[in-house]
Amino acid sequence: MNLLIQNGRVIDPSRNFDAKIDLLIEDGVITDAGKKLRATGEIIDASGLVIVPGFIDLHTHLREPGQEHKETIATGTRAAVAGGYTAVCAMANTIPPNDERAVTEMIIAEAARNGACRVYPIGAVSRGLKGEELAEIADLRTAGCVGISDDGKPVGNAQLMRRALEYAAMLRIPVIAHEEDPNLSDGGVMHEGLYSTLLGMSGIPAASEETMVARDVILAQMTRAHLHVAHVSTAGAVEAVRGARRAGVHVTCEVTAHHIALTDETVQSFSTNLKMNPPLRPEEHRKAVIEAIADGTIDAIATDHAPHHFDEKNVEFDLAPFGVIGLETAFSICYDRLVRRRIIDLPRLIELLSCAPARTFNLPGGTLRAGSPADITLLNLDERFQVTNTFQSKASNSPFIGATLQGRVVATIVGGVVQFDLRAPAPLPAGKPRKRKR
Ligand SMILES: [Zn+2]
Repeated sequence: MNLLIQNGRVIDPSRNFDAKIDLLIEDGVITDAGKKLRATGEIIDASGLVIVPGFIDLHTHLREPGQEHKETIATGTRAAVAGGYTAVCAMANTIPPNDERAVTEMIIAEAARNGACRVYPIGAVSRGLKGEELAEIADLRTAGCVGISDDGKPVGNAQLMRRALEYAAMLRIPVIAHEEDPNLSDGGVMHEGLYSTLLGMSGIPAASEETMVARDVILAQMTRAHLHVAHVSTAGAVEAVRGARRAGVHVTCEVTAHHIALTDETVQSFSTNLKMNPPLRPEEHRKAVIEAIADGTIDAIATDHAPHHFDEKNVEFDLAPFGVIGLETAFSICYDRLVRRRIIDLPRLIELLSCAPARTFNLPGGTLRAGSPADITLLNLDERFQVTNTFQSKASNSPFIGATLQGRVVATIVGGVVQFDLRAPAPLPAGKPRKRKR
């Protein structure tokens, strides 16, 4: 089936391209780009819209298998395409965890059956995420895992981390580190600082993250492996990454949209949708993270989409689980906070959401070059909207409900198939193309 996208502004940071041009898609592949293309088949009039490579999330919790009351591969990927994502990396902390081939294969099969976008599984570092012995990492890699991580938990044992890095280097995949010292975190529920003192809540110090980043940077240097620091949130953590890169260590990192947008001051509301790990940090840390985005220290923006059931979050702050959803709001939050406030330009934001994540984990996608799979996102930068609590995700634990934002994802195409269309009257069944003119 052919699809012609006409009259849009195409931004492709993978080759510094920014111009009004038509895109032709044949059999799921971008085959031509040019002025006034003609074709038979479906036509999308993208006048006034921006056309970019589909976003790729390096950090998504899809919860399946085992916690389908929070999210499933079907609902999580529908949330993804509603947020402009054409691929997500699925974290390993499911039940059972993705620590063996059978789980990886189940995730890939279910994503092929009911997924609205591509799913790249992340395997566990350790068996059962227990931090005691390594998972069958080579097996996981063969089954399709694109990286390994015990995310949700740190790898406390430095020797185990060293071995994981050695195996990962051999297999040419990254180790994705949730950097936290559990002893320093000591049961904390928010950032340790002024507001934790004022609110009488136990705190997680910045040092909990920073000491572990320092350790793992040294181990990455020693093993010549690729360390990817998940959700950096402190000034010291980004400084450690910056220094390591200067020294030639293969370290990459991501930041979440909520750490870009929010600080620990907001926790005064006691909303459990402001409880996540790492916690929201004070303004000086947020500023340091934003500087690191501007100077290129931060490679990618991720969501750490962590759906929870309403009942699980509808408890006292102390008792609520960590985590917030993010797939459906990440672009608009980042466009608002980074581009509209002139910290970075639009092509750089698109790079952080698509090309750079692809490069960082060595994934397909992140480009609109002819011959590439047609994974494409359409944006309306002028549309203002209010975030409501109706999500494609099964969960609604978003800190951004009620926020008015500008810049919105209007359609998402995965492999040449329109998987999300904001103006479509009903949610699309996964895998079914919709014939529609805009
Ligand atoms: Zn984490």
